[in-house]
Amino acid sequence: MKKTNLIIYGATGSIGKSVLSIVRSNREKFNVQGITCNNNYKKLIKIAKEFDVKKLGINKQIKCTVNDINKYTVYEDIDSFSKIYDSKTDVIIFAISGLAGLDLFHKLCKSGKKIGMANKECIISIGKNFRKEAKKSGCTIVPLDSEHNSIFHLLNNDYGVFESITITASGGPFRKLPLRSFNNISIKQATSHPIWKMGKKISIDSATMVNKALEIIEAKYLFDLEDDQIDAIIHPQAIVHSMVNYKNGITTALLNKPDMRIPISSLFFKFNGYLNQTKQLNLLEYSKLEFYPINTSRYPAIKLGKEVMKMGGLAPNAFNYLNEILVKNFLNGTIKFTDIVRLNEINLEEIFNKNSNIMKPKLNDIKNINYWIDNNISFG
Ligand code: NDP
Ligand code: MG
Repeated sequence: MKKTNLIIYGATGSIGKSVLSIVRSNREKFNVQGITCNNNYKKLIKIAKEFDVKKLGINKQIKCTVNDINKYTVYEDIDSFSKIYDSKTDVIIFAISGLAGLDLFHKLCKSGKKIGMANKECIISIGKNFRKEAKKSGCTIVPLDSEHNSIFHLLNNDYGVFESITITASGGPFRKLPLRSFNNISIKQATSHPIWKMGKKISIDSATMVNKALEIIEAKYLFDLEDDQIDAIIHPQAIVHSMVNYKNGITTALLNKPDMRIPISSLFFKFNGYLNQTKQLNLLEYSKLEFYPINTSRYPAIKLGKEVMKMGGLAPNAFNYLNEILVKNFLNGTIKFTDIVRLNEINLEEIFNKNSNIMKPKLNDIKNINYWIDNNISFG
């Protein structure tokens, strides 16, 4: 049987770990051609040894103090990462976090390959334009974010006949924390998600629920929705990932245990695949599945996210880029947890007071506004 030739951008992260776990239990089905990291090259080489990978991408130009680095073809700097895939590549996993991979993703959309897309930030920045590029080149983009992967399966390419889509949110670590305690939230508290074990940035985004706001916008762009066709509700057990509501009153939902290997494995095996480590969902193990509306005083990010989605154009990108900077500042200890969304709103207003919104932005428009943000962001 022909092996699947695989490239994993962001192999050293949490999604990368889940992908490699699937490969590990299905060795005979995969050939890992290339893997990348930002600066965690020791971990990258460990992975390369285990999976016999020949091509490595290391973004930060650091002197690798590992003897056998010469055994590999090394691509330094993210700008050269697009050279890692070749005509034999079957599937590309895009799991670099944040906007650092914006140019790379743009190039990959022109590759004609099957792309497992974990990163939501690039989709939100580029808007629905990426779908046009991808279609032209023959790319299939399979979303790996659990909610969007479940919508992808529920719709099964049957677009246009449903009324609306609902995605779920676990509510993160602060679903029950008294609002008066929000001012003192520590980095450790904010990165301790009750259900998912993820990278730092997305864990903070889940705590503020900026993640869910981004996912609402991500769903709009991935599935070509109107603003009022997409919403989110809280479901603490994280078993139901999304629901598609039809005009005749029927709602279909997709259920599985919260384990990222499940949406990722669907990229390779669809429903017939297997995962040694994943147990079947047994609903009898759950005394109840709960659903609640999102309280926007607790989670102001949802209200702000819906506003920027309505504004369209450069606004979702600006919301996302500001968030990326503000999360870094929270992790550095320079701003408080509650400042993340508060400062995002203040800065958004300033950005669009001083710059006009461009409704069909090109990559350069996105870079220009982000440059403006870098130089004008206020932390006051
Ligand atoms: P992690 O922080 O765990 O991993 C990020 C990966 O990207 C690492 O390999 C990291 O390398 C690499 N990376 C980071 N910055 C750069 C850069 N500037 N240049 C090149 N490589 C870089 O993140 P996650 O795996 O949690 O998330 C990855 C993406 O998937 C995010 O966009 C997230 O929103 C999305 N996602 C994640 C989910 C999850 O369960 N984790 C669920 C749904 C979506 P290094 O190790 O060297 O830092
Ligand atoms: Mg998600």
